[in-house]
Amino acid sequence: MWQNMKSTLIQLAELPFPKLWMPAALYIPLGLLLSAFSLHSHPRSLREVCILLTVGLFSWTFIEYFLHRFIFHGVEREPWKSLSSAFHLSHHEAVMNHEPDNVITRPAGSLPFALIFYFIFAFVTWSFSVAALIETGVFAGYLFYECVHYGVHHFQPKSPLGKFLRNYHLQHHLVRPDRRFGVTSPLWDWAFRTL
Ligand SMILES: [Zn+2]
Ligand SMILES: [Zn+2]
Repeated sequence: MWQNMKSTLIQLAELPFPKLWMPAALYIPLGLLLSAFSLHSHPRSLREVCILLTVGLFSWTFIEYFLHRFIFHGVEREPWKSLSSAFHLSHHEAVMNHEPDNVITRPAGSLPFALIFYFIFAFVTWSFSVAALIETGVFAGYLFYECVHYGVHHFQPKSPLGKFLRNYHLQHHLVRPDRRFGVTSPLWDWAFRTL
């Protein structure tokens, strides 16, 4: 059992990293499907839809911080450590080895969390329909994160915000991997004092 799990993890770690368009090709249709399901089962006003999508977007900023700090850098026990290595610490190694393509998260890494958070939202709101719209906002935040993360590792931004985000994330990679877990914003690093 443990051997099977270990070989699966190694296979996952050796899969090529996806291209930037791949998460978009997965999560945009998934988000549209979830929204269609939600609005079909419970029609809502435009205002309600916008509020729930915004809740999802905001939730993403916390999910980004939580997963990065407590799952990808925080687990010490096997097999979770091997799993987090396969999905995130391999990205840290790639950056150190100047392998610029190893940035985008594999769907095998993101989909299980997408499912878990959908059920958490459904449990908290007691509604699969409400959770579906929040989850759609989370997907939008996640795709924004992938774009920012990709940009940080591939481009030299000219805008002050782009420069700030690049510098912020590179400090996490090159100076303090136990700090600066936010990628799209420093909000939760500020809140939890990991700036
Ligand atoms: Zn990175
Ligand atoms: Zn990291």
